[in-house]
Amino acid sequence: MTDVKHMKWWGWGNEGVGFKYGDKPGFAPFVLEAVGLDLEKAIRQGEPSFEELRVPASNVTPAFVAELAAIVGEAHVTVEDKSRVIHTYGKSLRDLVRIRNNWIERAPDVVIYPADEAEVQQVVDAAIAANAVIIPFGGGSDIAGSLEPLPSETRTVVSLDLGRLREVLDIDEASGLARIQAGSQGPDLEAQLNARGYTIGHFPDSFTHSTVGGWVATRSSGMQSDKYGDIADIARGMRVVRPGGVLVLRPLPSTSSGPSVREMILGSEGRLGVITEVTVQVHRKPEQRDVYAYFFPTWEAGIAAMTEIAESDAAPSITRISDANETGFSLSTSKSRTGFSKFMAESALPSIMKSKGWDLSKICLSFIGYEGSKSHANRQRYLVNKIVSKHGGITFVGTGPGVLYDQKKFDTPYLRDFLLDMGAAGDVSETAAPWSKLLDVHRNAYAAAHRAYDEIGIKGWIMSHMSHSYHSGACLYFTFAFVFKDDPIAEYNTVKNAIQQSFVDSEATISHHHGVGVEHSPWLADDISPEGVVVMRGLFAATDPGNNLNPGKIVN
Ligand SMILES: Cc1cc2nc3c(=O)[nH]c(=O)nc-3n(C[C@H](O)[C@H](O)[C@H](O)COP(=O)(O)OP(=O)(O)OC[C@H]3O[C@@H](n4cnc5c(N)ncnc54)[C@H](O)[C@@H]3O)c2cc1C
Repeated sequence: MTDVKHMKWWGWGNEGVGFKYGDKPGFAPFVLEAVGLDLEKAIRQGEPSFEELRVPASNVTPAFVAELAAIVGEAHVTVEDKSRVIHTYGKSLRDLVRIRNNWIERAPDVVIYPADEAEVQQVVDAAIAANAVIIPFGGGSDIAGSLEPLPSETRTVVSLDLGRLREVLDIDEASGLARIQAGSQGPDLEAQLNARGYTIGHFPDSFTHSTVGGWVATRSSGMQSDKYGDIADIARGMRVVRPGGVLVLRPLPSTSSGPSVREMILGSEGRLGVITEVTVQVHRKPEQRDVYAYFFPTWEAGIAAMTEIAESDAAPSITRISDANETGFSLSTSKSRTGFSKFMAESALPSIMKSKGWDLSKICLSFIGYEGSKSHANRQRYLVNKIVSKHGGITFVGTGPGVLYDQKKFDTPYLRDFLLDMGAAGDVSETAAPWSKLLDVHRNAYAAAHRAYDEIGIKGWIMSHMSHSYHSGACLYFTFAFVFKDDPIAEYNTVKNAIQQSFVDSEATISHHHGVGVEHSPWLADDISPEGVVVMRGLFAATDPGNNLNPGKIVN
């Protein structure tokens, strides 16, 4: 039996861990007001039963299983139902609803855990020879439908789990480059780097359960991307097992050797091969790391400040601002004795805001991070504070709320499962756009969501934050929630599709960091133009003529 750890088969994260609201007095009233759900009266569904799940039978032949076992050893290949279910979906809301409702049309037929690159090569070659489908599996945290086998697939589907490739192999200290095996999950690789005095600086909200190979395959972005870059910047070299051989990209600082194959692997979602190793740029752990909280009177004032920070000499590690709805949500989920509620109740802040003529229902909470030497971090904060003040923001909130946000950010994903237990959806859509279009994108997404809620005939909620700043623009991240009425998936589609469509209509991208999968592929031609899709199709058709590598994802 393999020792690779997985998340709950039916939800996010570790067994036994979940969202609780008993110590958050503002939460239940907030949910009642936002979506009309009375948590005190709602009947909470229990954990789904695995025994009741209908798992499609595996079509793998004993001969093929024996061939795979000869490569990796019998303990590292399985056709057992639980493993096949764990490898069927990612963790999107659609995935969670389907698994809770017994909707598995197609599961992988066999799951395999190779130990190293040589074994990955043999597995890939054996699968191609058998005309099987190969779907690489990292942490399984995907939310774009990039992991699921196509329902129409009749060939044997092999889920190739990278979980045993989890070592930091080497650090080139002179260059600040670390070679990391692709199946290394965030906490494991960061602990190994920290032990040598380094950090990767990549902290997506899914950090605790996602892998460096998955980050590369989906073009991930982490909270501190303003300083460290997205994974597209951080990942310099790669080794990718393809049918018949390994594609090797050395970790060069830059190169002009034609169109970038490195960029083709980034975001390839398993369609170009199996990433076995990534060489990432790493940084010495910073001497100082602070996350300060700020308040702005309005969303418009906050975005104007973020725009100016991005074009200024200031170089913070995090720039993030919640709109008024998300600020209200943050206040409601804070703990009574430690969080924002205490801060707002015990500090003079609300009266100061009122004395400035602020409407408290419009205030926007922002977090800005500073990292590096003491003098660098302090200098950046000085520069940022001047810009925040210029746009009417409050700069003296301090680090208390930022510390709490930093500590709790990896717990938020458990909230989705809690809402599903209560018969409600909570999910996200994210995008990026130039600064000049950001306010329109925000306005249009809100309008689209509310039109969708009206169409279904429900009271729904939407909130947003801006994060991941670039010189020319930023990411907008929307969270929406509603109580299911009759048909969860149809209602989810109505809301999610409306928001996605509003992105392309507003000239924003279909995804800043979640990838394409099958969830966003209907809008790909809007995003990269029909000719862009022709190029993409050509790439996949030429490099995978048998359509064996995670078929149907990104383009079908
Ligand atoms: C609650 C939650 C929060 C999230 N927050 C963030 C966030 O802050 N930032 C962000 O960027 N994303 C976020 N995500 C999305 C998700 O975590 C990312 O897409 C992540 O990069 C996926 O990594 P993984 O290891 O889990 O990959 P998986 O989910 O296992 O796989 C994703 C895709 O990559 C392919 N793949 C995986 N490993 C390899 C490999 N070694 N070689 C080739 N292909 C491979 C798979 O075939 C699949 O197509 C979040 C998801 C959830 C559920």
